[in-house]
Amino acid sequence: MTLRSSNAVSISTGPRPVVVRRHRRAADRDTGSAFGFQARFPRERVSIEGRSTEFVRRSDDDGEPRTFHFCPDCGATVYYVLGSAPDVVAIPVGAFADPGFPPPDFSVLESRKHAWVMVPPEAQHDDC
Ligand SMILES: [Zn+2]
Repeated sequence: MTLRSSNAVSISTGPRPVVVRRHRRAADRDTGSAFGFQARFPRERVSIEGRSTEFVRRSDDDGEPRTFHFCPDCGATVYYVLGSAPDVVAIPVGAFADPGFPPPDFSVLESRKHAWVMVPPEAQHDDC
């Protein structure tokens, strides 16, 4: 899989990510959406080329630092790394612009999700 954001950043990854949908309030604020939805890859399977602008944000939920990388040309989030998992690269699924992208493998913190959000039944549900 390859993600290209404008001409500034190109990311090549392994063939199949772990896909996570998060329902934390911090995920809402991080993404500007009703939930976070990202593909996570082991760092050694990710090749990143080009320029990005970095911003470290502390989670509203637990203070965990998250390092976001933005395309310097258009401002889109291209990837980020959680302080608790520095060996994992998370890429917002929307950044792939692929309607055939796999559905989430995990759905986390569903007790906090918006009532109208539907989760595929085959996803592993986790409320921690
Ligand atoms: Zn861009």
